[in-house]
Amino acid sequence: MFESDSVRYLKGVGERRAALLEKLKIYTVGDLINYYPRDYSDRSSPKMLSEVSDGEVCAVIATVTRRYNEKFIRKGMTVYSAVAADDKGILLKITIFNSIYTAKLLTEGARLLFYGKVTKKLDHCEMTSPVIENINQGKRIHPIYKLTEGLTSNYIERLVSSALNLLPETLYDPVPEWVRTEQNLCHIRFAIENIHKPADMHSLKLARDRLIFDELLYMSLGISMIKGRNKGENLCKIANSHNDEFWGLMPFTPTGAQKRASEEIITDMSKAHPMSRLVQGDVGSGKTAVAAAACYTAAKNGYQCAVMAPTEILARQHYSSFCKTLEKTGITPALLIGSMTAAQKRKVYEKLASGEIQVLIGTHALIAEKVEFKKLGLVITDEQHRVGVRQRAALFAKGTNPHILVMSATPIPRTLALIIYGDLDISVLDEMPPGRQKIDTYAVDSGKRARALGYLKKHIDMGRQGYIVCPLVEDGESELISAVSYFEDLSKSELAGYRVGLLHGKMKAAEKDKVMAGFAAGEIDILVATTVIEVGVDVPNAVIMIIENAERFGLSQLHQLRGRVGRGEHKSTCILISDAKNDTAVKRMEVMCRTNDGFEISNQDLALRGPGDFLGERQHGLPELKIADFAENMDVMRNAQHIAQTILGSDPKLEKKENLGLASEVKRLFADIAGGIS
Ligand code: ADP
Ligand code: MG
Repeated sequence: MFESDSVRYLKGVGERRAALLEKLKIYTVGDLINYYPRDYSDRSSPKMLSEVSDGEVCAVIATVTRRYNEKFIRKGMTVYSAVAADDKGILLKITIFNSIYTAKLLTEGARLLFYGKVTKKLDHCEMTSPVIENINQGKRIHPIYKLTEGLTSNYIERLVSSALNLLPETLYDPVPEWVRTEQNLCHIRFAIENIHKPADMHSLKLARDRLIFDELLYMSLGISMIKGRNKGENLCKIANSHNDEFWGLMPFTPTGAQKRASEEIITDMSKAHPMSRLVQGDVGSGKTAVAAAACYTAAKNGYQCAVMAPTEILARQHYSSFCKTLEKTGITPALLIGSMTAAQKRKVYEKLASGEIQVLIGTHALIAEKVEFKKLGLVITDEQHRVGVRQRAALFAKGTNPHILVMSATPIPRTLALIIYGDLDISVLDEMPPGRQKIDTYAVDSGKRARALGYLKKHIDMGRQGYIVCPLVEDGESELISAVSYFEDLSKSELAGYRVGLLHGKMKAAEKDKVMAGFAAGEIDILVATTVIEVGVDVPNAVIMIIENAERFGLSQLHQLRGRVGRGEHKSTCILISDAKNDTAVKRMEVMCRTNDGFEISNQDLALRGPGDFLGERQHGLPELKIADFAENMDVMRNAQHIAQTILGSDPKLEKKENLGLASEVKRLFADIAGGIS
């Protein structure tokens, strides 16, 4: 099979160039063929100079009317200039630096294609250092490849051409014919040729459509296959639902979405395989109660549950809300966090092993070796992207095939969620508890800080509380200094006379807890905090949030921060302070002021940041996409998922002859992933 041959077999690739190609991750002829251009320059339909606008980059055909002359400016700098005219007689002045080789093309009467930026003058046009080609070669769509120093796009183009020439006459298409027909896709050979050397824009589109679909199809197939793998047997089967009973115990009626999610969870836990489910909901949508509902039914069926939160503050908060909820139900929750004394921990270990504790809530302290459950049936991780896949796995290992429930507060489009959390089923909490009011959001510059603080104080005087998020400093030590000095300044000046608390990441856990408890109890009016409050903190009486240096935060993070207010009956306000004037910052502020909808905000975030950045760490574990784009190709993704389900429905391991090509493509795409697909 020639695709797996080293690029060294191609003409013009020696040791040095092979090393450069390796930098681009091109090792084999197949890698080269799959190295798609990052962009194209369309020189296929040259323009008349009269229709070109000033500064436009385009191709023009013109005939040289005055051959080049040569001018030495100084040592090492020679300027060549010539004049040409297009077919309507408009003059084009060409200037070239140093390259006698290019200049020599400019002989009188030569009809050439010039590609570059056109500057319009009163009675003529000019081009400096254009690409100059003879018309036959030049008049087409040129691929532009991503490069590394020492390689030119032209070189890669030539190399790709010679690789394409080696393709067998009848190239095997890995995607079954019925799929191609149903999805209106071109043949793989056409796609590969036209992605590199497009015959025209339409062919390029066909090629892109085909290759994008392929990539998303292989991705969907791979994810589904991983999902189906090692599912194991459900050894913690839930026989009876206690869901209605649970919601009856709550002080509020569940939203439709909460009820639905909790039912999905309980149904999952009674199936043949253990549950792996993600509950996704915007800040304040009531995920904690859904988690508690799951624990309630699991515990009533005789299983223990573990709830892991990313911070001690959150773990404590969950613990106290579980205590309230489960009071008098005969279910015993307990807390386990690093800052507890050895004696306190030992007591928890004992009661856990004996089965006396049914719901254990804590931080990563839960995965300590000494933690042994009697009968762990359900593992819940809150705010999953902060908990970490490895910790989730360690907790999972404390049971025998326990059910897994992940709670995430980053609302992302469903299709995207299916990818990022590929191995999980998804419930969406798309409905807010009743009575929530929109959080009014304002963006102001630092000149209005005094007014913002005045507004805050007015609300404190009425008995409310508020947050001020400190200026963000990147590195650890200075974060501490800046938070402390900022807090001290404020408490001495503008906020003198108010009860102000400080919360930052470098405080000892016990200190943090004390501050948080004081704030929750209303003993602190204003909490000055770093982003440690971003996750989950729930104090309904807090109604104002001021965010300093708002431009330093990403959209999703601003949304999470803002979610700390607007959690109770009172109207809440968020004030973003920023002096930044750049486009992205201004856009972010606009979006924040316009909407409270987490799904819309994450879509905007996706658009502003680009999916690579947006997915960042969270995408880890999935293959890199070469040509498809999750954000842009959402519809294709949906189709691909649908087709993948159909294919796997009748051939779960891709063993049928018509699916063998798919199997090997999926394997290749997932080759770098832990475990791969076999
Ligand atoms: P999040 O989804 O951000 O984790 P929480 O679970 O912290 O949200 O819930 C936010 C607040 O809403 C809590 O104070 C909680 O008690 C309250 N809440 C949750 N569900 C409902 C409901 N159905 N009706 C009224 N209030 C609710
Ligand atoms: Mg929460």
